[in-house]
Parts: sequence; structure tokens; C-alpha cells
Amino acid sequence: MALNQINGGMSGQMAQEQAPETGPAPLDYTPEIARATAALYEKVAGVIPKFEWAAYAPTIHAINTLKKERGAVILGHSYMTPEIYHCVADYTGDSLMLARKAAEADADIIVQAGVHFMAETSKILCPDKTVLIPDTRAGCSLAESITGADVVKLKEKYPGVPVVTYVNTSAEVKAECDICCTSSNAVQVVESLNAPRVILLPDEFLAKNVATMTDVEIITWAGRCEVHEKFTVEDIEELRGANPGIEVLTHPECPPDVMAASDFAGSTSDMSNYVKQRQPKNVVLITECSMSDNVAVENPDVDFIRPCNLCPHMKRITLDNILHALQTMTHEVVIDPEIAARARIAVQRMIDLPAPAAAGPKFRTKQPAAHVTLVA
Ligand code: SF4
Repeated sequence: MALNQINGGMSGQMAQEQAPETGPAPLDYTPEIARATAALYEKVAGVIPKFEWAAYAPTIHAINTLKKERGAVILGHSYMTPEIYHCVADYTGDSLMLARKAAEADADIIVQAGVHFMAETSKILCPDKTVLIPDTRAGCSLAESITGADVVKLKEKYPGVPVVTYVNTSAEVKAECDICCTSSNAVQVVESLNAPRVILLPDEFLAKNVATMTDVEIITWAGRCEVHEKFTVEDIEELRGANPGIEVLTHPECPPDVMAASDFAGSTSDMSNYVKQRQPKNVVLITECSMSDNVAVENPDVDFIRPCNLCPHMKRITLDNILHALQTMTHEVVIDPEIAARARIAVQRMIDLPAPAAAGPKFRTKQPAAHVTLVA
């Protein structure tokens, strides 16, 4: 099963702005810190061994102390490792949840424990706040697959066809679109436009999976998530063979045949809700590796099988560079105000839609892929 190693590498602008490798000097695990972090350790004891906690706890304590002094909040994506997600993040969830929390945040400083497009989304929604990303190399293969100029050309090719852009895109791409979406609400957003044809960018697989749920004709772009595209039907067959009765939950950035071979498909929030509500005996989440650890913390009676496809970009965010960001107030996310204003309209239109239902089949499994028009 080819589920172990995915190499990432940033290209383009962010690669030139690399964050320093040096983090803060190691801190001591004193009895006082052990006491102050004991309740946090109890929460994550099922996924973090005691010997590792001694290395994490001092930095966790330092971050939680400093963020209060600074008046900062930390937004933690579901693909962060558990010591970040459960121990320093103030708000957690998928891209849609974090966008909503950024908009509501009652703090002058936002530290984005996630990738660069997420930090940009926070800045778009909160132009007067300071938004920090702990490592500027934390990119995304989807966000890098398309530019604002590409969207302009598509609009010329398909005049009058509304453009929906996945939030996994740069601010300049969002600025060229009509409305944003996430995997939680993509079908809802596409149908909200009341149009016979919609351009849905840039994830080819998400677009194909959305097309199974709607009669709207979909035109899309050949972008892919480098993590989710790696999963195969053979992986799922192997998992089922080795774990009889296992329930297979899949993210819609995966290929359509992988979705078809699954028991349930939905966004990270949908998968998390499915596990919370149904408490399956054993389950596998076909998505980024840390998600299983984070959902396992909240569902101690569920047995998780954990194929490990890591997102190399998400894994650039560490406790050390979160602390460094708070200590030095770097790296501040800056967006051209004119681009940010146009992008804000598209993000805000998405946020203004009613929140999607907490659970339910937003994507179908057990069926062939639907047709889309693919432009590259
Ligand atoms: S998991 Fe995929 S979509 Fe998410 S940040 Fe990583 S490369 Fe991008």
C-alpha cells in the first residue's frame, strides 16, 4: 500500500520567503509545567506517549501563556498534529469552520495553524487584524495549481458562467471568482447560483464528486490535492481485507473510484460528525494522517486504522514555529487591499449562506463518476 510518504516542496513566491529553521531554544519540563499542563495531557494521552509529552509540554505552556499576553487566538486546522490541535488551538475545524471563526474572532492577532491559503482567508476576512503564519512555506498543491490570470482566461472562454472557487486557492484567484466553497458546502454553493453551468475550480476530483450530487453542468480545472490523489481502490480493498467490518470514510478530494468504494464520503467535519454520532467499532478515514489522531482523541471507544498520508505543507507548522511567531510577530500575511476587497466578496458570500447540515450524505458512494468538462 503506497500510503507512507509524500514529499512536498514549495514552489513560487512562498519558497523564496522561507521561514527560519531555527526555533526557540528547548525549554525545561519542570514540575510546575507538568502540573500546569496535566489536564491537557489527560486529553491527548491516547495519542501522545508520556515520553513525548515531556518534549511538548514546555512549549505548549509557553505558547498558551504568551498568546494570552498578546491577545492572540490560534486557529487550528484538522490536519494539525494533536499537540497543536488539542493543546494550543483556540478554535479548530475544517476550512469553512476556521473561516467563520476568523470572521468572528475577538482578538487583534490571529495565528494560523494551517497552510498559507487559510491564513490569507483569515486576512481577507479580518483586514484590520494581524494574521501570522508560522512558516511561509506551508503551501498547498491545489492553491498552486491555478493563478488569477488562469481564471480570467476561463471567464473569457465561458462568458457569463459563474465561477465557484474552492477556498484552497490564493487571494488573487478568489478575487476573480463569484463565490467560494469548501468541501463541506460545495454542492450547496454550486446549486445556490441557480445556473445551468458552473465553473468549479481548481480541484478536478472535488468537481467530479460534486457532479454526482447535482444536475448543474460542471466545468473544472486539472488541480489535485497531492495527499488525497494518492489513495487508490486497491488501498481500500487491502484495508477491508485486513480489517473485516471496517467502515471506510473518504474525503471528496479523493478520486471518484475511491469515493465509490467507500461507505461514506464527506468533508473533514462530516467525517468527524459521522464518527461521533455512529461510534463505529472500527473505522478508517481516507484523508490526511493527523485527522485520525484528532478524531480519536474525541472518540476513545472507536478503533481507528490509520493509513498515513501526511500533508507536507501542514506538517511545516510546529509548536516551535508557533511560539516563534508569537515571540517575534512573524510572518505577517499581507494582501494587496484591492485584491483582498474583491476576494472578500466571494468569501463573504459563502459565509452568508446558511451553515450546511451537521451530518448527512453530501456526497454519494457506490456509484460511477459523473461527467465534467476538464480544462487545463
Ligand atoms: S492536504 Fe491537500 S488540499 Fe490540504 S493543504 Fe495539503 S495539499 Fe493542500
